Amino acid sequence: MTKTYGVIGDPISHSLSPLIHNGWMKDYSLDAKYEAFFVPAKQFDEGLAKLHDSGVEGLNVTLPHKAAAAKVGNCTELVKYLGVANTLSRGDDERWQADNTDVEGFREDLKIFLQTTNWEGLPVTLLGAGGSAKSVLYVLDIAGASITIANRTIEKAEAMLTGLKGKNHKCKSLEEGLRTIDLQGLVINCTSIGYGNESLELPISRGGFFYDLSYGKVAEKIIIGAREQGWKVRDGLGMLVGQAAASFRIWFGKRPDVKVAMEKCSEVLGRQE
Ligand code: NDP
Repeated sequence: MTKTYGVIGDPISHSLSPLIHNGWMKDYSLDAKYEAFFVPAKQFDEGLAKLHDSGVEGLNVTLPHKAAAAKVGNCTELVKYLGVANTLSRGDDERWQADNTDVEGFREDLKIFLQTTNWEGLPVTLLGAGGSAKSVLYVLDIAGASITIANRTIEKAEAMLTGLKGKNHKCKSLEEGLRTIDLQGLVINCTSIGYGNESLELPISRGGFFYDLSYGKVAEKIIIGAREQGWKVRDGLGMLVGQAAASFRIWFGKRPDVKVAMEKCSEVLGRQE
């Protein structure tokens, strides 16, 4: 019987995950399909239970459900530490197993963007303190970067400082963080600000790097603005494909073709690779 996989979120219609995973399933001639399931913000438990009853084998989890997904069934040590999960697999005991592949997706894509793996002392302004920011912070903290977390709700940024390896990280309000950005450093946008009509007012860069976790229409305005201010820019498409590949590996034990998936997604987004 054809096995069903999918992604859950709110909103979900923009998701490129079905394109990516269905392509890989076809590449490997798997008797499986991948769908996008709309699960409204406050209905995670009910939505997940329905999908479990219908026999779904594995799920990716996106905004705003990543913290809730970390609490289902069993989870990896990484998920326990971060408190956020983006991949669920139905275990032999029928319980969900929660994993986090955003960490791997982000780390591998940042290496490509910065063209180095030495991030010791790198000045980073991390905008946002939601689910994705936790994965990004984990990668950069372990690598020894010097991080300022800037968030609209400063208490959430403060809470993220607990338990980190680096002891000199700071947190600020979003406004102050934007005002005091290191112009030669790395700025990472982990906010979902692009879903609304607002944008980010970035200062003029002096050789700095701007990475936006969002991609497509959601990221467009912010990425264009950053480029105009002289930042070297990259959107979150590489991370998306990277985390998808890591999820696919968990579900099927295979390393899918990331390059072809990137090309397909870029084509759909009308973006030059
Ligand atoms: P969350 O909902 O967990 O966090 C959202 C963050 O954005 C919070 O810090 C929130 O601030 C902030 N925010 C939301 N609206 C505004 C606003 N109007 N002004 C200022 N700050 C705002 O989302 P995620 O962390 O899961 O996702 C964030 C983004 O990253 C999304 O666009 C998502 O699509 C993208 N993403 C991409 C991935 C990829 O693979 N490329 C993987 C994961 C995420 P506050 O705390 O004050 O509410």
